[in-house]
Amino acid sequence: MSTPVPSLQIAETGYEVLHNPHLNKGTAFSEAERRAHRIEGLLPPRVCSLELQIARTHEELSNLDNDLQRYLFLSDLQSRNETLFYAVLMSDPATFMPLVYTPTVGEACQKFDHIFRASRGMYLPISARGRLREILSNWPQKDVRFIVVTDGERILGLGDQGVGGAGIPIGKLALYTACAGVPPQYCLPITLDVGTNNQELLDDPLYLGLERHRVRGAEYDAFIDEFVEAVQALYPKCCIQWEDFANINAVPILERYRDKICTYNDDIQGTAAVALAGIFGALRISGQKLADQRFLFLGGGSAATGIAELISEAMALQGMDIKASRARNALFDINGLMVTSRTDLADFQKPFALDHAPISSFVEAIKVLRPTGIIGVSTVPKLFNQKVIEAMSAINERPIIFPYSNPTSRSECTADEAYRWSHGKAIFASGSPFPPVEIAGQTFVPGQGNNVYIFPAMGMAVFATESTRVTEEMFIVAAKAVAEQVTEDNLAKGLIYPPQSRIFEASLHVAGRVAAYIFDKGLARVPKPADIDAHIRNAVYHPVYPA
Ligand code: NAD
Repeated sequence: MSTPVPSLQIAETGYEVLHNPHLNKGTAFSEAERRAHRIEGLLPPRVCSLELQIARTHEELSNLDNDLQRYLFLSDLQSRNETLFYAVLMSDPATFMPLVYTPTVGEACQKFDHIFRASRGMYLPISARGRLREILSNWPQKDVRFIVVTDGERILGLGDQGVGGAGIPIGKLALYTACAGVPPQYCLPITLDVGTNNQELLDDPLYLGLERHRVRGAEYDAFIDEFVEAVQALYPKCCIQWEDFANINAVPILERYRDKICTYNDDIQGTAAVALAGIFGALRISGQKLADQRFLFLGGGSAATGIAELISEAMALQGMDIKASRARNALFDINGLMVTSRTDLADFQKPFALDHAPISSFVEAIKVLRPTGIIGVSTVPKLFNQKVIEAMSAINERPIIFPYSNPTSRSECTADEAYRWSHGKAIFASGSPFPPVEIAGQTFVPGQGNNVYIFPAMGMAVFATESTRVTEEMFIVAAKAVAEQVTEDNLAKGLIYPPQSRIFEASLHVAGRVAAYIFDKGLARVPKPADIDAHIRNAVYHPVYPA
């Protein structure tokens, strides 16, 4: 696969070249290029290498006072010189991830209307119903392969940010490129504006979205349908990734399209896959089998049911009946253990209800169900208290303890607590990062179940194969491929995810494994290459200047 690169020949004047982010090289234009493209005199005379420009950017960033300023600086750079922007990000993706995405992007979304500078991606308001295809065709790139789209209703943990949610698809797509090399020219961030129920935004004279409450029901569904049809008509090879929709819409949208088009929801499926990757990593430490595990979830919302379902499907792939697999993934929410006699369960929770007497204490549930792992997705801090960790340690040689609630302040326990209360026996990973912990002279490095181990790789696999679908099994393949890359040295320190400093290599490995699955299942729209890893590497975007 060869990825077309923009050419300097298409611009007419030097001024145009300098103001086209796809063509601009800034001070890196050679003397010959400056003469040939009438750039002479428009730049200071010294010609710089890309490496020197990266070093200058690093220095400029270090001189700024806070991360929002760094976010804005990088955003301006993306508008000025796309190659340099990605060269900077790809020089150290782990360092730049928190600047272009979480946590900084959260503040950028909240302040969107007050810091708006330049257009990026597209905005489709519900007031334009009936004209979405016409509006989408205003996008200059005619071959779009990847869309990340939000309606801004559940932005990170910040709730309804209306049109300000635009920062999320923009930031997320930057990570598809920075962490797995998905070529940016094929990527399109989109914000669907269906109104906002955030009164503060509606009262703000600077608010940039539609001044109306959120549209719900049939009108909303028809708008989403029209959007999907317009994308299919204009960009038939495009994968749509739904991002930060509220549960009430996220689950039905995924159900409606997952078997019809190439699409996935990272909040649901990426989260489940990264948790499963952590479990596969944990099993490498304990030496146990997935089929022998029993998990007890604290929380029964979308994260819990999504993770529980993917674990159940992975167990079923090993030969277990799906009902028996689900019975090994018990949910415990604010009203206690989910059992069949409860009348308050939603449809998506019912498959996990146990035929068991009610239990209202989490410690009691541990003693009765004897789980090998507990997974916290309750949003409530400190619920994995000393009694909980001690109960898990009493029945397991190496208890799996995953407090996944974000941010750090909501984590069900800290790494220090888990390791201390279990006397170093816990196999630990969390949703938010924790620093290394020392117990009795041994250093433990806690892993972070960050979706970034999954989604860029999934994007690259889909891009390189032109897959027609994104299936649940692809996420199981991805989870295994993440866990494969944890070294013995990592495992010895308790680390069950690859270090984030290796995210690019890790993503290409995962992409290769998922691509092999796509080819084997006949989902690819390109012929199967002899060497799939080489095929993936050929498709990778490299931040080099156009000739
Ligand atoms: P949700 O609101 O849908 O679900 C929360 C669940 O917790 C509900 O079932 C609720 O009944 C239960 N709960 C609340 N208080 C409780 C209590 N005192 N005891 C027991 N259960 C209680 O939320 P969600 O979307 O499922 O997300 C949950 C958490 O998971 C969030 O903090 C989110 O940040 C985190 N998460 C982490 C990752 C990741 O690290 N990769 C990904 C997704 C979600």
